[in-house]
Amino acid sequence: MNYEQISQLELIHHSGAVGRRPVALVRAKGARLWDSQGKEYIDCAAAQGWANVGHCHPVVTAAIQKQAETLVASQESSFNDQRALWLADMAAIFQNSLGWADCAIHPSNSGAEANEAALKFARFRTGRKGFVAAGRGFHGRTMGALSVTANKKYRDPFEPLLPGVTHIPYNNLDAAAAAIGNDTASVIVEIVQGEGGVYPGETDYFQGLRRLCNERGALLIVDEIQTGVGRTGRWLACEHHKLSPDIVTLGKSIGGGLPLGVTAWPRRLGLFESGTHGSTFGGGPLVCAASRAVIEVMAEERLVERAETLGLWLLSELRGLHSSQVREVRGLGLMVGVELKGKVTPVLQQLMERGVWALPAGLNVLRLLPPLVIEQADLEKVVSTIGEVLK
Ligand code: PLP
Repeated sequence: MNYEQISQLELIHHSGAVGRRPVALVRAKGARLWDSQGKEYIDCAAAQGWANVGHCHPVVTAAIQKQAETLVASQESSFNDQRALWLADMAAIFQNSLGWADCAIHPSNSGAEANEAALKFARFRTGRKGFVAAGRGFHGRTMGALSVTANKKYRDPFEPLLPGVTHIPYNNLDAAAAAIGNDTASVIVEIVQGEGGVYPGETDYFQGLRRLCNERGALLIVDEIQTGVGRTGRWLACEHHKLSPDIVTLGKSIGGGLPLGVTAWPRRLGLFESGTHGSTFGGGPLVCAASRAVIEVMAEERLVERAETLGLWLLSELRGLHSSQVREVRGLGLMVGVELKGKVTPVLQQLMERGVWALPAGLNVLRLLPPLVIEQADLEKVVSTIGEVLK
């Protein structure tokens, strides 16, 4: 099918919810994408943050193929070998990264669902109703996750959302101290705000939130859906701040391109009661096999270290462009934002014309989230192309 055929067919039937770029992507490998006309792009978006190990990684593809011939989905209410092995792999990550000796892990099908489970568990565990979330924070688009998301454009058409949610400025402990009260079930926060504009938070802020939650009996949820799986140069971004939250959520890259959300907490906090939460496909054998392959590739190819090294290099090269159109370059690992003085959309378009596929974060931030396997030569091309466009 050519571009016209594909786009016309999609436009007849699509819901209108997500705008489209005028391109049909049909193939990808590593950090490269190809459209229906054979044009090649360097992927600086990791698709939408979900391809940290790169596209069609042979180890992930082989695991999916093998499992697809064995058992694709299975009853939530039965045990399964792939889920058992995957839970053990995930538990080892939470032990290494957060020091959790023993944890409970709830699998679902997306980032938003992972946060839904976190919010529900917080209410279930504390018996309280309120949530505190950060301005500019993004946690997904289902009703609960949307309620703790800040952006009015996403929220307004769907009000009334969950009652009892207070949004406070990010990185501001005084505001947190005033907002966290006796009826706060949880505080939810990102370590680097992604959709909100690539804003890294500070260690004092996260440690202060930890202290306030301890003092006031609220649970601290860290949303690592975009920052997790090595993106920031640590397996979990919490590690940068020696932060051990009560609940962590993961999504995007943890499924290797298949839909997987993860909600985890230390077992000492207790468990859901049977029947209080669930999902038909959550933690099915196919996605668990894919996720185990992702975890294997992350270790084999030392992608966490790679994200740290390449991220430092990328930040310094972008700062070195000294473009008069740039207000600030910021980020952590391979999660980088270039805040522009003007709108980002024309810059994204020009980058696409030159074969670089990047993302926006808000109206004026260019966001780069390349797969962690990206070659340095590709990143050099990305930097020089950004330099040309921002001249
Ligand atoms: N939380 C964060 C920090 C995200 O970046 C996203 C997606 O961009 C989500 C939650 C929602 O994830 P999903 O789109 O898989 O529902």
